[in-house]
Amino acid sequence: MSERQQESRLKEKRIATLTLGCKVNQYETDGMRELLEQAGGVLVDIQETADIYIVNTCSVTNMAERKSRQMLHRLKKQNPEGIVAAVGCYVQSVPDEVLKDLAVDLVIGNNCKKNIVSILEAYLKQRQAEEAQERRNNKQSNALWLPMDTVTDYEDLEITHPSEHTRAYIKIQDGCNQFCSYCIIPYVRGRIRSRQPEDIFKEVQNLAAQGCKEIVLTGIHLSSYGKDFQMEEGIALLDVIRSLQEVEGICRIRLGSLEPRIITEDFVGELRKYKKVCPHFHLSLQSACNATLKRMNRKYTIEQYMESCKLLRSAYDRPALTTDVIVGFPGETEEEFSTTVRNLKALNLYEIHVFKYSRRRGTKAETMPDPVSEAEKTKRSDCLLALTAEQKAAYERQFQGKAVQVLVEEKLGDGLYTGHTERYIRVKLKSEQDVRNQMIETIFEI
Ligand code: SF4
Repeated sequence: MSERQQESRLKEKRIATLTLGCKVNQYETDGMRELLEQAGGVLVDIQETADIYIVNTCSVTNMAERKSRQMLHRLKKQNPEGIVAAVGCYVQSVPDEVLKDLAVDLVIGNNCKKNIVSILEAYLKQRQAEEAQERRNNKQSNALWLPMDTVTDYEDLEITHPSEHTRAYIKIQDGCNQFCSYCIIPYVRGRIRSRQPEDIFKEVQNLAAQGCKEIVLTGIHLSSYGKDFQMEEGIALLDVIRSLQEVEGICRIRLGSLEPRIITEDFVGELRKYKKVCPHFHLSLQSACNATLKRMNRKYTIEQYMESCKLLRSAYDRPALTTDVIVGFPGETEEEFSTTVRNLKALNLYEIHVFKYSRRRGTKAETMPDPVSEAEKTKRSDCLLALTAEQKAAYERQFQGKAVQVLVEEKLGDGLYTGHTERYIRVKLKSEQDVRNQMIETIFEI
């Protein structure tokens, strides 16, 4: 059958998508949505009755997997006749479990998302020919996933319009080689793969032509970008930033989560030349105690992390530094946690995203001794949440009454708009005119 004829099977099918997890997943869902639309599908809201539901799942925590499962079941209940496709990380994490799940009709792993149209086409053809019961007994044939440790190609998905009008998250890297002891991601996303710089440039140019003003470069392990091109850490990423700096219409470039080790004197010296790069950096930390970091298999010390922050603070005016911290990692004693608190106080970051450790099947930390009780994890989490609230308020107070540039994103009503400053501080402002997608100077008021 010709491609044109095959595509007609999706024509006018009502298709709803749902994304769980990170910005990389969001980008990939947006890419799939565009492919489905090009194939004639009609995109509808997830609350509506659809012919096909696609759930781009997440497996970063037990909670994320549970939510993925719940959503798949809820959608099957919403329309028992609809096709429910489980896509992505949860599929890679526990393929056998997903295959047995009667709520799921189609099982699609990572690096198969670009084939979403042909997979659905084939399934619709097969479904026409089969009895429902047989189909259920034969779920194996409705599954497409690859063992991720063998995948070496970057999956070419692209977007031509961003899901948020002013800001686009651009996926430029996939996979991770770090194997932090608590993390399932290297198993479900595979080894590092980088996107070709010319593809990134073309996509950003196209988005800018449509009015997008801000881009955020994202990846599973962004700092590894270009290592698979046999380039030194950081060099290829700087090359991409340099080229994007030239794209007309793009006013801001943000970087997604970075490894502290990439922040060297040379890297920062080069980065600061690119004026569109926002003074807002997310440096992943996870613990501020060296003993805990070692058990987590993180490959830096708290002293190196502090040095990275110092370098950024000397290169940029009051940069917004943010991070992630896990509390209650196996064996985290009271003393280790106190060390983390002490160092976080000294670091004085803009924002700390706090996570309670949750045991992940198949990781090294799964069998580590000395688990921390849930009550203790909550206590430690509350302690860090209080600390970050205090530090965040103090950071924002520095800008009180000062002029800030805001990229206006949304209209709230009654002449009220909202957007973010270059340091990613959310600001509300009043205007008589429609100022959406404009860069406005305003006086910052808390
Ligand atoms: S760097 Fe560590 S936490 Fe991040 S994806 Fe890789 S293994 Fe997971």
